[in-house]
Amino acid sequence: MPLANLDIVNILACPRCHGDLTLIEENNDHTGLACSACHIVYPIDDGIPVMLIDKAIPQDQWDAGTRKAKN
Ligand SMILES: [Zn+2]
Repeated sequence: MPLANLDIVNILACPRCHGDLTLIEENNDHTGLACSACHIVYPIDDGIPVMLIDKAIPQDQWDAGTRKAKN
């Protein structure tokens, strides 16, 4: 589901390093917010970014196809 308001990306920062996040778009859908410094991706679940460090997906797992937040 696309984010309703892309301006949200401008106010979101990585909760771990407070760095900038990169919005990941796949098939006209926004699926995650990546932190290149931490090599992790915060998943976007039904349009809601999950900005929790312990829910973040390591970049290598993301690249392998994982799109769901960890339980
Ligand atoms: Zn970070």
